[in-house]
Amino acid sequence: MNVEHSGDPYIKDSMREFGETIFAEMSALAVKTGAINLGQGFPDTDGPQEIAELAITAIRDGHNQYPPGLGIKKLRDAISHHQMRFYGLEFDPETEVLVTAGATEAIAASLLALCEQGDEIITFEPYYDSYAASIALAGGVRRVVTLNTPEYTFSIDDLEELINVKTRAILLNSPHNPTGKVFTHNELSQIANLCIEHDLVAICDEVYEHLVFEGQHIPLIQYPGMRDRTIQISSAGKTFSFTGWKIGWVCAQPALLDTVRTAKQFLTYVNGAPFQHAIAEALNLSDHYFENFLEDMRVKRDCLSQGLEKAGLTTFTPQGTYFVTADIEKLGYEDGKQFCLDLPVQCGVVAVPNVVFYDNKDLGSTLIRFAFCKKLDVLEEAVERLQTIESLT
Ligand code: PMP
Ligand code: GLN
Repeated sequence: MNVEHSGDPYIKDSMREFGETIFAEMSALAVKTGAINLGQGFPDTDGPQEIAELAITAIRDGHNQYPPGLGIKKLRDAISHHQMRFYGLEFDPETEVLVTAGATEAIAASLLALCEQGDEIITFEPYYDSYAASIALAGGVRRVVTLNTPEYTFSIDDLEELINVKTRAILLNSPHNPTGKVFTHNELSQIANLCIEHDLVAICDEVYEHLVFEGQHIPLIQYPGMRDRTIQISSAGKTFSFTGWKIGWVCAQPALLDTVRTAKQFLTYVNGAPFQHAIAEALNLSDHYFENFLEDMRVKRDCLSQGLEKAGLTTFTPQGTYFVTADIEKLGYEDGKQFCLDLPVQCGVVAVPNVVFYDNKDLGSTLIRFAFCKKLDVLEEAVERLQTIESLT
């Protein structure tokens, strides 16, 4: 990843490749240059005011000490109810639901609890940056299957070839950051079959479950044979635009949930007591909220994607998430990282270079990611600025 930061003499070898995250680095650059920050994926508008008020009320009402280890009952009930409401999935809130410090902790705790030293974890590149770091922290080895542009398809044979006696789990993210890919029914069904055939656990990061523009989100845990071998992870951060509250959760059968909980207890133990009260209510918001959220984001996606195309970049229309990837190759640029370092100065816009999400660096070198979870007038201004990108061809 950020190899420039690898000079640290104290850090253990397996963590040496990880410096400051690209999101922190690019957000700092946005602040320094005063550019529009379309790098780090956080909304510039807070979630529903009534939900924020509930967190304030919870603080006033004295919900300020450690909540129970699994999370407060009201939130576990709401998570369980949400699973039934959207997917027809039944989870027992007493034994199959665990509240975590965001999805980040849920992913880390799952890997820490599952991985023996040297166990292999398969994921798809480009991958969300915390996956590589959490696998390394857990003493695991990451193996990647490439999602190939333009459709971000992959070869199921490549995936199967990676599986061996050391393979412990497949770490899947759908809808997928940074590509915006939503894995198809056929792909999910093939992944499920491999998990069953080779006795693997699936760790599913579904934080963008409510941001699917084409079709529907299908949790892998729904597939026959997957209920007992899947750790399903989500978070309130993206769905309710409260990314700083860090309320996430895990749903899994009791033994797997206990596995994750064992590690989680010694990471944060618990977190966010007053926010748990507020998110319990947020999960029960009407369909109108979820539909509006998606439609608002669709308009923003189209605004930014069209603006990028007009500026001469090739885009891959995201089917989900709030990110769009663009290729700068057509404009004659070769180095996405350098391009992203120059862009705030040249155009006043910040993006993120996708190369940091790849092991095969060549494949991501000309790809950059923009976040569109910003006010429409901010996106329009960014699009206008992007029209001044100079073509080298
Ligand atoms: N997974 C993916 C794919 C993400 O994009 C993010 C960023 N929200 C996370 C996990 C982390 O989620 P949280 O902020 O809930 O820890
Ligand atoms: N998930 C966010 C993104 O992909 C970033 C969160 C973070 O900074 N760790 O932009």
